[in-house]
Amino acid sequence: MSDPGVSGRFGEFGGRYVPEALVSACEDLEAAYRDARSDPSFTQQLDHLLSVYAGRPTPVTPANRLSEELGVHLLLKREDLAHTGSHKINNVLGQGLLAQRMGKKRLLAETGAGQHGVATATIGALLGLDVVVYMGEADIQRQALNVFRMELLGATVVPVTSGTRTLKDACSEALRQWVTQVDEAHYCIGSTMGPHPYPWMVREFQRVIGTEARAQCAGLLRQGVPDVVTACVGGGSNAAGTFAGFVDTPARLVGVEAAGGAAMTDGLPGILHGFYSNILQDEDGQVREAHSISAGLDYPGIGPEHAGLSTSGRAEYVTANDEEVVSAVVRLARAEGILPALESAHALAWIIRAAESGEIPYGSTVLMTLSGRGDKDAEQLRRLV
Ligand SMILES: *Cc1c(COP(=O)(O)O)cnc(C)c1O
Repeated sequence: MSDPGVSGRFGEFGGRYVPEALVSACEDLEAAYRDARSDPSFTQQLDHLLSVYAGRPTPVTPANRLSEELGVHLLLKREDLAHTGSHKINNVLGQGLLAQRMGKKRLLAETGAGQHGVATATIGALLGLDVVVYMGEADIQRQALNVFRMELLGATVVPVTSGTRTLKDACSEALRQWVTQVDEAHYCIGSTMGPHPYPWMVREFQRVIGTEARAQCAGLLRQGVPDVVTACVGGGSNAAGTFAGFVDTPARLVGVEAAGGAAMTDGLPGILHGFYSNILQDEDGQVREAHSISAGLDYPGIGPEHAGLSTSGRAEYVTANDEEVVSAVVRLARAEGILPALESAHALAWIIRAAESGEIPYGSTVLMTLSGRGDKDAEQLRRLV
């Protein structure tokens, strides 16, 4: 998981499939990011805010009671304890500082469930940047509370009425809007997707998860490195950041997608939102909607680096269904007093299944990134448990 170079390819995946007007914007962004990451004043400022604002490092918690039940040694990387309740803040803080350094006045963002929108609105407020969030009209209706949170934080939420009025349409609209205002606006993409340099840059901003976890595991485990490292996968940013810390170890790397939105398992190679990767599509190549219990995993594509890691065999991608996800939430809540986000519970659902079937051998050590807290899902869970 190194620098994908100027072409931005992970094997055959990735690239930069954007309208002419955005090519130079992507090139400028790449140059600015390369310059920033090698500038100690930028990295120090980012590390400082990750610490005093976002609350890093997040701990690794041994899940003792659940470990005993499952016959594995389960460790949880606690991104739920980061400010705003998930890993999304790591990426948005990095991109916000970069936008400021590039002299941009405004952040544009897409959001589905509203979590990336809230994180962007938060960082806009912190850094004094205007924030405009594009959100499908259907999602605006479903996520009224998050719309209000964004507005409380000073952001403008713009309804997107094209297509199915959901996340993929919001992404398309944000890209279109960026074309018209590249000089003053930065498009703050929320996951390891989009045209180069985004998938690489977002993974690098999330690498802090894997770097911290690697050092924390070294202190907690006799053999230093867990046998299995796993995380849920929507666009793939929390998983990519986690895997980056362990890709050079013998650990088995497992990404868990939602069964109803499994771009790696059920998708075919194609181009969406500026990059080439596995995409859910019908026989005519039209993008299929993803549907799962967790809005944060309902993206019809997957980050190109994951498609590359799957092709090379270095990482595996599996799925978890809605039902086992809900029972995983309840199980973690009652065994450990931690209420995970529905997204994060996909990784736990796979661990439970694999430990019980013996696919993960008895006594194995398993590190799971708990990408976010479940408070946001309480209303939805109330109707299900
Ligand atoms: C957004 C989100 C995800 C999915 O995004 P990735 O880019 O795949 O990490 C997972 N968990 C939580 C809590 C989220 O908010």
